[in-house]
Amino acid sequence: MFIEGEMGLQGVDLEALKPEEHILLQTEQDREAALRWRIANDIRKKKTGVRNKILEFLRANVRHAVTGEELRYVANDKTEWARRVRELRTEQGLPVATRNTGRPDLAIGVYVLEQDRQSPGHDRNIPDPVRRAVLVRDGYACRKCGWTHDQWNPSDPRHLELHHREHHAAGGANTEENLITVCTVCHDEIHRNSR
Ligand SMILES: [Zn+2]
Ligand SMILES: [Zn+2]
Repeated sequence: MFIEGEMGLQGVDLEALKPEEHILLQTEQDREAALRWRIANDIRKKKTGVRNKILEFLRANVRHAVTGEELRYVANDKTEWARRVRELRTEQGLPVATRNTGRPDLAIGVYVLEQDRQSPGHDRNIPDPVRRAVLVRDGYACRKCGWTHDQWNPSDPRHLELHHREHHAAGGANTEENLITVCTVCHDEIHRNSR
């Protein structure tokens, strides 16, 4: 279930590594893979719904890419796993990013829970195609401060969310025109000020 070279190797020039460095990297990778395997197995055995299992596994790997194969495994190979992942994003407002829904830098078939946080209530239930269109239109940048994922760093772990200009709860539609891309910091500020 773990594809070689999938984790932690981005930006590492394997050709340039000395043999002993190579072995060290391999050991770290094996340790991480073994840990993920153990977590996946523990969650898989739990007597809880598919959606909860997937959420638990994503939470155990916040900001780390997990593969669809891992999620399917955690979901006991139930075919509904993909629908449950989508619900976490479109109904629960959790930032489960994929290549198609906001993070074109990700590989196909990879999922990342960017932060363990739900978007504000009225900014949920946005269909994936609309989400993608808004992000593309806004150049994957915050419309208030210009933040992009390229500026991500561990001491300021933001991600991009969508905000309804006219609040969804007040009848604002899930249309491109009514949605803007904002970073989580600016988004919190908008909601603080509109209270
Ligand atoms: Zn911002
Ligand atoms: Zn909002």
